Amino acid sequence: MKKRTENLKKRLMRELKPAWDHYTDKAKKETLKFSDKYKEFLSGVKTEREAVEWIVANAEKNGFNNFLKKRGKKFYKVNRDKSIALAIIGREPVLEGIRIVVSHIDAPRLDLKPNPLYEDVELALLRTHYYGGIKKYQWTSIPIALHGIIINGDGKKIKINIGDNAEDPVFTIADLLPHLYRKEQSQKKLVEAIEGEKLTLLAGSFPFPDNEEKERVKLAIMEILNKKYGIKEEDFISSEIEAVPAIPARDIGWDMSMLGGYGQDDRICGYTSFKAINIIKAPVHSTLVLFLDKEEIGSVGATGAQSQFLVDCIREIISRKGKTSSFDMVREVLNKSKALSGDVNAAINPNYQNVLEKTNAAKLGYGVVLTKYTGAGGKYGTNDASAEFVGEIRRLFNKNKVIWQTGELGKVDEGGGGTVSEYIAQYGIETVDCGPALLGMHSPFEVSSKADLYETFKAYRVFLQS
Ligand code: MN
Ligand code: MN
Repeated sequence: MKKRTENLKKRLMRELKPAWDHYTDKAKKETLKFSDKYKEFLSGVKTEREAVEWIVANAEKNGFNNFLKKRGKKFYKVNRDKSIALAIIGREPVLEGIRIVVSHIDAPRLDLKPNPLYEDVELALLRTHYYGGIKKYQWTSIPIALHGIIINGDGKKIKINIGDNAEDPVFTIADLLPHLYRKEQSQKKLVEAIEGEKLTLLAGSFPFPDNEEKERVKLAIMEILNKKYGIKEEDFISSEIEAVPAIPARDIGWDMSMLGGYGQDDRICGYTSFKAINIIKAPVHSTLVLFLDKEEIGSVGATGAQSQFLVDCIREIISRKGKTSSFDMVREVLNKSKALSGDVNAAINPNYQNVLEKTNAAKLGYGVVLTKYTGAGGKYGTNDASAEFVGEIRRLFNKNKVIWQTGELGKVDEGGGGTVSEYIAQYGIETVDCGPALLGMHSPFEVSSKADLYETFKAYRVFLQS
C-alpha cells in the first residue's frame, strides 16, 4: 500500500522544493557569482536615466549598436533617455513573430518639487512629491541621495548625483521623536500619520553671514549650488531630481542567500533580461528586450508601456529583415509575438501571512514566479494570460529545468496591483507575467532571493531562445 501511495504521489501531485534543493555545488557557486554583479548594478543604478546609461554602455560592449548609427543584427534604441530597447534579429522570418521580455526601470521614490528649496526655523529644506506607491514612514530617518538632471537657463543639462559615494553628504527626512508623537502621529492611522507635505529633506543649516537679511540659510545654500552646479533657483523648475535611499545593496543573512537593496522592483527583471539577451546568439525568432519607464504611475507618457515605443521597435526589426513595415505587417507581427512581462510579485512575509492565500502565493527562494493574472477587486485591471500560453511557458520551463512557481498578488479581497502586461497584451501579443517574488516591495530596502534572481535570468534566456 505504502508503495502505491508513493507512486501515486510522484505521478500526480505537484511537489514544490526550494531552488537550493535542486542545486549542485557548482550551480550554487554560479548563482552567488551572478548575484555579486547584480549587487554592484543595484548599488550604482538608482534612476531610470542611470539604468538607460548603464544598459547602453554595457550593450555596446556586447556588440549592440545605436540603431541610428549602424545596420546589423544587434541594435539598441533609446527613448528620451528614460526607456530603452535591445534587439537581436532572428533566423526565422519576421512574420513568425518576435520574443519579447519587458520590464520597467523606474522605481518608487521622492521627486523634488518644481520649487523645492525653502527655509524654516533657520534650516534649509527641500520639498518632495512622492512617485509611485510608497509607505511614507519608511522614507523618514534614512540617508537619502539625490540623482537627476537640471536644465539651466541656457538649456544646458547638468547632472546631479550626490549621496551615494562614501565622501558625499546625504540628505534626510527628520522624523518626530517618540517622546512627543502622541497626538501628532501615534493615535492616527498609519497612512495619515505622516503627511506627504512633511516629506521634506534637510539640506543645510549654515546662515549666510549678513544678519540684516532674511532666509540666510537658503541664500547660503543657493550660493553653494551656484558654485557647484552653476545654477539659479529658477533652474529647479526645469529639473528632474529624484531622492532615493543612499543605501548600497547588501547580502542578507549569515548564509548570504538573500539580497537587499533599493529599486529591485523592477530592476531585478531589467538586469536579468539584459543578461539574458546578452548571452543568446543567433536566436530562432527575433528578440526584443524592453526597459520601460513610468510603470509605477500607470505606464503613462511617452516613455511608458502605453506609448508607441514598442511599435517603433517592431518597425525597426521589420526593416532590418529587409521588409517595408506597412500597418498590416506590423499588426501581423504583433499578433504572432509572445512576451514575458518581467515584474516582481509578493513573497509570503512570515509576519503577514494572512494577506496572501498560501496555496497560490509565491515563496522566497522557490524560483521564478509565473503570474497568470494580477489586478484587484476581482481581476480588475489585469492581463489574464490564456491557459494555452501559460501551458506553453510551463512546458518550456520544465523542459529547460527552470525552477518556477506560481503567484498571485494577494488574497481575492485584499488589494492588488498591476504590471505592464495588460498594455503589452493589448497589441495582440501573448503575454504572461514572470519575475521573482520580493519581500518588502516598494520599501527603501527590498529583499530578493539569490536563487530566484538566477532562475529569473534562466527563464528569460530560454524564452528568448525559443
Ligand atoms: Mn514592478
Ligand atoms: Mn512596483
